[in-house]
Amino acid sequence: MTVLTQLPQERRLVTAIPGPLSIEALARRTEATSGGLGMAIPVIIERASDAILLDIDGNQIIDLGSGIGVTTVGNSAQRVVERVIEQVQSFTHTCFTVAPYMSYIEVCEALNRLTPGTFKKKSLLVNSGAEAVENAIKIARHYTKRQAIVVFEHSYHGRTNLTMAMTAKNMPYKEGFGPFAPEVYRVPMPYEYRWIGNKKTITADAMDMITHKIEKEIGAHNVAAIIIEPIQGEGGFIVPPKGFLPALSKYSTDNGIIFIADEVQTGFTRTGHMFAVEEENVVPDMIVTAKGIAGGLPLAGITGRAEIMDSVHASGLGGTFGGNPLACAAALGALETMQEDKLVERANHIGKILGDSLRALAAKYPIIGDVRGRGAMQAIELVKAGTLDPNTEAMNAVIKYCQSKGVLILTAGTYSNVIRFLPPVVITDELLKDALSVLEEAFASL
Ligand SMILES: *Cc1c(COP(=O)(O)O)cnc(C)c1O
Repeated sequence: MTVLTQLPQERRLVTAIPGPLSIEALARRTEATSGGLGMAIPVIIERASDAILLDIDGNQIIDLGSGIGVTTVGNSAQRVVERVIEQVQSFTHTCFTVAPYMSYIEVCEALNRLTPGTFKKKSLLVNSGAEAVENAIKIARHYTKRQAIVVFEHSYHGRTNLTMAMTAKNMPYKEGFGPFAPEVYRVPMPYEYRWIGNKKTITADAMDMITHKIEKEIGAHNVAAIIIEPIQGEGGFIVPPKGFLPALSKYSTDNGIIFIADEVQTGFTRTGHMFAVEEENVVPDMIVTAKGIAGGLPLAGITGRAEIMDSVHASGLGGTFGGNPLACAAALGALETMQEDKLVERANHIGKILGDSLRALAAKYPIIGDVRGRGAMQAIELVKAGTLDPNTEAMNAVIKYCQSKGVLILTAGTYSNVIRFLPPVVITDELLKDALSVLEEAFASL
């Protein structure tokens, strides 16, 4: 069995970014691939280990995005690689609904065990976060025999037709792609930094606005599910105020509404808990997972109360590739890594370094209006100094500077002014600190 040796975990630039080989290859990208695709950094990747990306020009780039919060256990993590190699040599596909296999069952057992709630749970595996959200909604509607879905301002749930309807931001996710699926209702999100009302009573005020809308405009008895990201991802790492998620969960329970946590971005140790809802001991009826679940292989899960998950008739759920054996093998390797290497603790440790460093930066640079997030999921929101006006130009300049020095950082936010940090949770302190020193230089250079 050949397992490639790890790349040294250090930043190294041998050409400009992009280098000549990447420039040549990117011309082919432009020729061959849909113009509808974006690109965060203009390089072509040849290899990666943990938090280092090696491009075809030989540059080693620090990855603070984890391919959008996916490579939590590191890129090509040892246990993931070993299990996938073993699996690919055994069999590549049978379709779980044609001829089942153990790794799918084992991933579901792990999800049932690891997600919050002491009641009996069951799971279903699919290919992507959006597909998982769609299935959670299908199941919630089937179980409740209700149709309405309540979603939040600034939310992101995916790019399929139903999940586009559920996603808040028009450009780039929805523009020109309508008509959207019906029976999706959007309610206010208590976004503390931009809350117009009294910030001291934000939780109660937001709950009043939400329940008013549900009761007067939809009818609580028509609502199948309320779905929320415990920390909003694409919306800009918006952390709801303390007490809000418990209040929302209680309201759902009191009204026979399924409470769904979309933990696609926040799940699997990212926020310093296995799942972000644990911060306030919230126990969702259903929990949707993807991104960090399988160390980079495409896999997503829906886990929920057994009576809800079992309410669907046999063959009402499924899909050709869902829970592919390679992805399940990878998930078992990733989950083992999270546990054995204590990545929950590691995410808290990273959170301390990251948070301290971002707050110090904010104290120095008044264009950083807010620092927020938890663990290895934190962000800064950039504004024109002394105002709430979004500062997209500064965000772009900082990102560009960091790229030129070999640090990959992602953006986010409804107002396109948030710099988000989602490093692999296995990133070394040295590498993280090196990346943060480049970030500091970027602000100094503005
Ligand atoms: C990324 C994301 C999705 C969609 O996942 P895909 O795998 O891209 O379909 C859904 N919800 C949240 C919170 C996400 O961050």
